[in-house]
Amino acid sequence: MKNKQVLLAARPTGAVEESHFKIVESDIPRPNEGEFVVRAHYLSLDPYMRGRMDNEKSYAAKAELGKVMVGSVVGEVIESRHEKFTAGDFAVVGTGWQEYGLSNGTGARKVDPKHIPLSAYLGVAGMPGVTAWIGLNEHGRPKAGETVVVSAASGAVGSAVGQLAKMKGCRAVGIAGGRDKCDYVVNELGFDACVDYKAGDLDTALAAACPKGVDVYFDNVGGPVLNTMLNHMNFFSRIPLCGQISGYNDASLLAISNMRSFLVNRIALRGFIVSDHMDLWRAALTEMGELVHAGKLKYRESIAVGLENAPKALIGLLAGKNFGKQLVNLI
Ligand code: NDP
Repeated sequence: MKNKQVLLAARPTGAVEESHFKIVESDIPRPNEGEFVVRAHYLSLDPYMRGRMDNEKSYAAKAELGKVMVGSVVGEVIESRHEKFTAGDFAVVGTGWQEYGLSNGTGARKVDPKHIPLSAYLGVAGMPGVTAWIGLNEHGRPKAGETVVVSAASGAVGSAVGQLAKMKGCRAVGIAGGRDKCDYVVNELGFDACVDYKAGDLDTALAAACPKGVDVYFDNVGGPVLNTMLNHMNFFSRIPLCGQISGYNDASLLAISNMRSFLVNRIALRGFIVSDHMDLWRAALTEMGELVHAGKLKYRESIAVGLENAPKALIGLLAGKNFGKQLVNLI
């Protein structure tokens, strides 16, 4: 038996292409003292991976050329020489785009597949769910009766943001690409409204969906959607700046055209990175896991099958082809 891996073969200068990756086979690793081997069941594909492929300074180290592409998986420990992990445990680990990975336990988290489905630990009860929880609670600080808008609303982070906002007694409004995604956000996730930013005249649609203006805009996309949102912000409103996916392939699309709105409305815009708040992860993960277990937090997944299909699935994610949390099933 061999280990399949996806290496970063070249750095993109615009859109990601399959030629930026290389699929190879290697021996399945064996653990040294203090290490364990995980057989991945699911690989998580996330928008941040586009940034890791670049050569530019960012908040995290870039992926290295010729090395296994960075990423998190959830899977089963198959061999261990680590005191805290034993064979048969399930864990989320950052072993990257490969079927079998070696971990020394750094950043690894044991999970219970009997509590909620294994894949959920990479989505709503994992990093994206924690991102929603921290961005909303720490930086959005919504109060009952306020209006919370979130972009990429059908996705891993956005779908959780709106549902958490509803639980706090807010009006939750999504922005998503296409009728199907918007219908899902309202009919399945229970948002009060969802605006299709691809349908044209986003400004008018937002005014109709947010008759009392917007108190919290949880921004996942940046660019033209953010610029339009700035027309609808209330006095002393908050913008947790979570992501800028509309500009990940071309940062020139991210220019802000309506700075005046920040002054007039005294908007607090706060960029945040989920890994800056490690002290909050335990509380967030516990709450999100309980909500999923109780059936109170819904989520949807797009699952590609086979590691060789991971590059295509990441390219699709960056173009909005995913519908819910993007995963790759490896088993
Ligand atoms: P999603 O599951 O939401 O997938 C990405 C979605 O982005 C797509 O489905 C698509 O939805 C939307 N999108 C793609 N291109 C564009 C575009 N040009 N304009 C507008 N929307 C676009 O991903 P996540 O929930 O995992 O991530 C959402 C955001 O949160 C990303 O920006 C990500 O980088 C960020 N993030 C930030 C973290 C932090 O610590 N700050 C941690 C985790 C995520 P649609 O079809 O609706 O357009």
